[in-house]
Amino acid sequence: MKDFRVTPIRNGTVIDHIKVGMALKVLKIIGIKGENSQSTVSVLLRVPSKQNEWKDIVKIEDRELDPKELSKIALISPSATINIIRDYNVAEKFNVEVPDIVKGIVRCQNPGCITNQSEPIEPEFVVESKKPLTLRCIYCGRIMNDVSDYLI
Ligand code: ZN
Repeated sequence: MKDFRVTPIRNGTVIDHIKVGMALKVLKIIGIKGENSQSTVSVLLRVPSKQNEWKDIVKIEDRELDPKELSKIALISPSATINIIRDYNVAEKFNVEVPDIVKGIVRCQNPGCITNQSEPIEPEFVVESKKPLTLRCIYCGRIMNDVSDYLI
């Protein structure tokens, strides 16, 4: 069974070091909903990592991620690493990065915020701290720390 973990994919993306428990949210971010998905996806939950730590891993065949998806993953799992696989080789490897401005990817937690009214205003946050994550809504000033339930 050990080999299952390292089963290579030919082309696609391996998202490694996902904060344990966040893999299903990552699937949601990349739009994997099961029946209408075009890609083969493998999900590994609670994989032993270093020093008594655990992580989740998601492998997606024949698909690379766009910048918005990468930013969303960074917001819920800043330690995640992205491996782009081409022809069985790791063509690129990088860490996700929390952007300085979070625009259009997180809803404001404040139901009274103008971005949650019928106005077509795109929510926007200033990142006050990346570790721990602290976002401030530029419209109402609401501070958000856990955005995992507010991703657009
Ligand atoms: Zn707001």
